[in-house]
Amino acid sequence: MTASTVVNVTREGDIAWVEINNPPVNATSTAVRAGLAQAVTQVQGARVAILTCAGRTFVAGGDMSEFDRPAEEPHLPDVVQMLEDSETPFIAAMHDTVLGGGLEIAMGCAWRIAVEGTKFGLPEVNAGLIPGAGGTQRAPRLLGMSAAIDLACSGKIIPATQMLQLGGIDQIASGDLTEAARAFATTLPQRPIKIRDRTVAALDAEAYAAAETALKKRSKGQQSPLLNLEALQWAALPFAEGQPKERARHLELRKSTESQALRYAFFAERAVSKPKAIDGIAPRGLNHVAIVGGGLMGAGIAMACLTGGLTVTVIERNAEEAASAQARVAGLIEGGVKRGKISPAKQAEMIQRLITTDTYADAAQVDLALEAVFEDLDVKRTVFQQLAAVVSKDAILATNTSYLDPTLIFDGIPNLSRCVGLHFFSPAHVMKLLEIVKTPDTAPDVLATGFALGKRLRKVSVLSGICDGFIGNRMLAAYRREAEYLLADGALPHEVDAAARGAGLPMGPFELQDLTGLQIAWANRKRQAATRDPNERYERIADTLCEMDRLGQRAGKGWYTYAEGNRTPQRDPEVDKLILQYSADRGITRRAYSTQEIADRLIAVLANEGARIVAEGIAERAEDVDMVKLHGYGFPRWRGGPMHLAGQLGQEKINGIMKLVSDESPNSWVIAEPAA
Ligand code: NAD
Repeated sequence: MTASTVVNVTREGDIAWVEINNPPVNATSTAVRAGLAQAVTQVQGARVAILTCAGRTFVAGGDMSEFDRPAEEPHLPDVVQMLEDSETPFIAAMHDTVLGGGLEIAMGCAWRIAVEGTKFGLPEVNAGLIPGAGGTQRAPRLLGMSAAIDLACSGKIIPATQMLQLGGIDQIASGDLTEAARAFATTLPQRPIKIRDRTVAALDAEAYAAAETALKKRSKGQQSPLLNLEALQWAALPFAEGQPKERARHLELRKSTESQALRYAFFAERAVSKPKAIDGIAPRGLNHVAIVGGGLMGAGIAMACLTGGLTVTVIERNAEEAASAQARVAGLIEGGVKRGKISPAKQAEMIQRLITTDTYADAAQVDLALEAVFEDLDVKRTVFQQLAAVVSKDAILATNTSYLDPTLIFDGIPNLSRCVGLHFFSPAHVMKLLEIVKTPDTAPDVLATGFALGKRLRKVSVLSGICDGFIGNRMLAAYRREAEYLLADGALPHEVDAAARGAGLPMGPFELQDLTGLQIAWANRKRQAATRDPNERYERIADTLCEMDRLGQRAGKGWYTYAEGNRTPQRDPEVDKLILQYSADRGITRRAYSTQEIADRLIAVLANEGARIVAEGIAERAEDVDMVKLHGYGFPRWRGGPMHLAGQLGQEKINGIMKLVSDESPNSWVIAEPAA
């Protein structure tokens, strides 16, 4: 057998050291599995073997790039069993993260020790899978059923302290891991019974049903949490029966549409932050940013920037508004303290980095100034003129506009190459998405700095060109349009919302409008009225609601009604009546739409609009569109995004639905050209 390059075995007296060295995260690739299998034979004769990992972490999972191919030998379950059966017992000496295959390997070892701060998990569920090397079979035997459910079904990551309490590890090493492992090996406790030979009871029917109900509620259509629960029950069988069932299910799930979508999302998230437009371009340094307008968005953006370690100057219209902005940001920080996310010391330090003012000259030193003032072209243009007069000639200028054309906003500003759109989503300190909008003049290093800022603020940044609503709100407009056509043609708001939820969205289009308020979209429709194609179908049901002051939850009524202090939408007969009357007045013969039909149409219009956005070069690729939907609009991750989903359903099916949609509303839809 040739020596493995990724697993090294050395001897130190009667101790054998086995080190995995497969950067960056020591994933259980074929080479690692083969190396470990070989190491087990090499350590025989030693009194004890210590398994460690080089680099920043213990084994942090499988190699997902291998999951699209048939599994290659040696298989991880066999390697884990070799570790467990080895005459020379193994100690797993762990640091940083022990995830998935890493935890499965650790559970094959006789003892487990970890340095302080090490974290453990079985996150296969997040990739639409169940563990494939005994994770669901050994974890309940080692940790008990309840902890195993947390790990395998919820993908929860637990700290070493909790793992020790659960009996999953034997020791937390407070100092050097190598020293601690050597000391542990010197006074070795009696070898414990193999984990696979221990027993655990399955959940009884009542406990199983309760766990299943709780998971269903959270997973919104995703199957893998439930499949993990089912597999955990097999731990009550003899290991020789349960383990092959787990393995077979794991391999089957690698091919499932859910797992493919989740793996796609994982890789797409990484891809979108590196667009071709900034390939090889170094970002500028950022320390101090100004935010003009400390309202809802400005305060959230300030919070995100403070969390990212930046110094933030918020500029408001006057001293009174500046004080309100200060209170808003301080309130967000306080919220973090209350939730235990921010320590009181950190709070004080963040407040020190926050300056609020009504004087533009206070922003003279900033590296970047972003506006989040009212959505009004003249107001925004004045803001940039005032900014340009005080900041350095190459300080980056950014707009958070939702719909306005950035080239009009920046028109007349000296040095247009420093101007860019940075479109955050509400609440800006929570929502992951950042659309980075490139104007025809934006310099590549300014774009690269936008992406560096996004990374610093832990956002998923997506590059967008200029169009009405950029990527996300343009998609939303198409989706809402179809939802409203459906109302006029035969569906009711609760039916459309139920269909959207059935497709995995957290909320339907009408519930969502009620939550965010109907007035923003109303103002937008009025703005677009002048340029809208007069032949395009325009349904004014939403306008009628706005005219009736049914502006959403805050008004107590919108598409639904809301009882005092209760956010649950209640179907309103008045709205149903209004819609029926609306159709009758226009001579529309209403017809029934099935839940599936509604869901199919909503997905099809999203996929169609996404394809147009890519074809027009507004987005570089389909992944950009999908990540916008996942991180800005709650599209279910387990479906990958509308573009990925359309690919799975087949373009023919989408085209077929689009034809129906378009036949019902002539002149209202542009069907995307098939991709070249
Ligand atoms: P908001 O009304 O809550 O806040 C606007 C703030 O700007 C107010 O505090 C106001 O005092 C201040 N302001 C107005 N003119 C100013 C000036 N000349 N100088 C300094 N401050 C001034 O509005 P918002 O919801 O935070 O939206 C702000 C911008 O962000 C808009 O362009 C909006 O389209 C965009 N946006 C909003 C959302 C959202 O969900 N609300 C999402 C993304 C982007």
